[in-house]
Amino acid sequence: MLVRAKNADRDRRHAFAAWSVLSLSGLALAAFGFVDPGTQGILLGAIALTSVGSVWLAPLLNCPSRAKPWRLMALAGPLFLVGAILRAALAGADGRPGSLWPDVFTLCGYICLGTALVMFLSARRAGTDAGSRSDAIVVSTGAVLLAWSFLVLPALRADGASMLLRVVASGYPAIDALLLFIVVQLVFTDVSRAPAFWLLLLALSAIFVGDIGYAVDFAHILHPSALLRDGPFLLGYGAMGAAALHPSMVLLTVPQHARARPLVRGRLATVGVAVIAPVLVILLSPPAGIRDRIVLAACTSMLFGAVLRRSVRAVNQHVKSEAVLAIQATHDALTGLPNRAKLSERTAADLFSARGSGHAVGVFFLDIDRFKVLNDSWGHGAGDELLVAVGKRLRAVVRDSDCVARAGGDEFAVVCRIQPGTDQPRAIAARLFSAFAEPFVLSIGNMVLTPSLGIAVANGDAGYTAERLIRDADIAMYRAKDAGRNRWTLFTTAMHEAVAERLSTEQELRRAMAEKTISLHYQPIVDLGTEELGGFEALARMEIDGRRVPPDVFIPVAEETGLILPLGRWVLSEAVRQLGVWRSQYVDLHPELYMSVNVSARQLRDPQLIPIVKAELAANGVPPWALRLEITESVLMDDAEAAMLVLQQLRGIGVQLYVDDFGTGYSSLGYLKRFPVNTVKIDRSFVAGLGTDSDDQEIVRAVVAMAHALHLTVVAEGVETLVQRDSLRKMGCTSAQGWHYGKPLPAAEAAAAFIAPAADSKSPIRIRQRAAGKLTA
Ligand code: C2E
Ligand code: CA
Ligand code: CA
Repeated sequence: MLVRAKNADRDRRHAFAAWSVLSLSGLALAAFGFVDPGTQGILLGAIALTSVGSVWLAPLLNCPSRAKPWRLMALAGPLFLVGAILRAALAGADGRPGSLWPDVFTLCGYICLGTALVMFLSARRAGTDAGSRSDAIVVSTGAVLLAWSFLVLPALRADGASMLLRVVASGYPAIDALLLFIVVQLVFTDVSRAPAFWLLLLALSAIFVGDIGYAVDFAHILHPSALLRDGPFLLGYGAMGAAALHPSMVLLTVPQHARARPLVRGRLATVGVAVIAPVLVILLSPPAGIRDRIVLAACTSMLFGAVLRRSVRAVNQHVKSEAVLAIQATHDALTGLPNRAKLSERTAADLFSARGSGHAVGVFFLDIDRFKVLNDSWGHGAGDELLVAVGKRLRAVVRDSDCVARAGGDEFAVVCRIQPGTDQPRAIAARLFSAFAEPFVLSIGNMVLTPSLGIAVANGDAGYTAERLIRDADIAMYRAKDAGRNRWTLFTTAMHEAVAERLSTEQELRRAMAEKTISLHYQPIVDLGTEELGGFEALARMEIDGRRVPPDVFIPVAEETGLILPLGRWVLSEAVRQLGVWRSQYVDLHPELYMSVNVSARQLRDPQLIPIVKAELAANGVPPWALRLEITESVLMDDAEAAMLVLQQLRGIGVQLYVDDFGTGYSSLGYLKRFPVNTVKIDRSFVAGLGTDSDDQEIVRAVVAMAHALHLTVVAEGVETLVQRDSLRKMGCTSAQGWHYGKPLPAAEAAAAFIAPAADSKSPIRIRQRAAGKLTA
């Protein structure tokens, strides 16, 4: 903070000094007209010395990235000054110098100044803008042409001076033209322009004007007054000093990105005048001698050459940018591979050319397994590196004539010609997999990755569109992923039917949710020791146009589409509401009635889950222990860290947690121990084998024993027979659920059948309070 304030303060002081120097030279210039030549000399000298001092000191004051150009400029000042003093001292009676010495100093001054300008130009990299270089050639050649006619020729013809002097004098316009060439480039290149830039420009313009004044004087065309002849130099010195002192001088040596831009009006006018004026001059005052003609011819050729170069460049540039645009529109910027649009185009072209040829076209759709994990945990930089590397490897394992495209995200596609009836698709798939055989060397370390690949092949005459072929390969790829990743699958029409079915289920689910034709059924869970009702599991039921859609069909679709969030919220709220109603209705009969609700993976990741659970319990007056949340085993294992956190929070509320479908996933006992769960639900596939399959028998026995060891209770699902019930009871299983006790039923029927059955009910569920006579009331 302090440093910044200090710097700002320093900059303000330097800017003030710059404007003071400029104002001082302005005042001196104003006084020039009123004082005698001696005082004029003193004024000029004083301003020149102030300027030289400022320019010399400026790099120390403002600390630019390069000091050298300023040092050279500071050197040019005294050289010009000595030249001027000598010129005045050695002037003959006609006012012309009698010797070459003044010119020697002045020329050295120009060399320093020119070098300094070239350094600015290269520091700003303005020189790379070929457009402004062409314009600078046009302008300076135009200036040379004009100078030739108006200054050089008259100077060369000036009588009374030696030949050498005349040649030297006529050289100044040429030097000015060179300076002009550099200055025009500096001006035309589009860079941010600060006060120091404009001050420098003012100084150079003043020097040009001064030089023209001298040349005019030398050639006896006009004899300008001292104010007109020396005044510009005085102003030039002042502006130079001010430019160096101004803090923005640092920008003059800061590299700036030169970019092509449309011609602005000023630039167009300058270039136009530079082209037209010399032509007019030549037309109005035709060349006199052979020397004149040669110079004018050379200059006009150069002028038109530069104009031509400029236009050719402009056209080429345009063509080049069109080509770049075309590539950008059809190629992926990251990998440089064709993009999805190009992939379609290529597939369509291949399908067309395969017509009647007996050939087929194969699309290989490849997706990197668990790419998202890499991207999320290592950042997009690593993800990008991997995509580039995968693109290169795929390109390397296929034929040059095959097309490798990036279809988007981490998906790549390869399009090839296939010989029908051969093993070619399998061979190509193997080659694509070989691209993943070696680990990928990334900046974050070596990564071993696997792909999932879907293949679709179409005969050229089958009437396939490119879109359909790509989509089929995509569907097959998803199949490969579902089947456990790191494998390839060939598309079959059955897959397409499955996808179409999924899509229609999604539509139906949306409709059912909107039309509220989703309901809950309740299946009793019974205590195996007492055969009394413990609670219910709430199971979602969907009906569309009078037809039942099983939860095994619509729940996976809801999970895929995210519809499980609103659906799950509704299930939770409805189940807890029903539990609240039953608990108050049958408070004497079933004071410990509980409700089990299924919770999906997506819901577990929903930050709203905890507040929703709390709110529903509170709103329905249900104690937390009466709510049981069932989470499938695979959900716990897939994202153990995140799951752990949510489960701990739920346990914090007092809700009980069940591991659903136990035995179908990893069945890791170690995991079970880590998670804060209360109950294990043994999957019904194991229960089904009880009494008939000794393996199942042993598994269930082991699970029950292990659960007890971990102080967990066990619920057996799918209990259909007495045999199953008896063996579960013998093993010490806590509770059971299944058709033996009752199927899931709508609320009213479930209450009538399981909570408060009629006295003559044949239900195997025993009613605890029947003896108390509460039911008959
Ligand atoms: P689940 O959680 O394992 O539910 C138990 C399933 O077993 C239910 O199938 C139930 O009707 C069935 N079942 C119960 N006893 C027997 C029996 O003795 N024999 C046989 N063969 N089956 C029995 P349902 O209702 O078709 O539900 C299927 C699955 O759909 C559920 O399996 C659960 O994973 C899911 N599901 C149902 N409702 C919801 C819900 O509201 N939310 C979530 N996330 N999933 C739900
Ligand atoms: Ca369940
Ligand atoms: Ca289950």
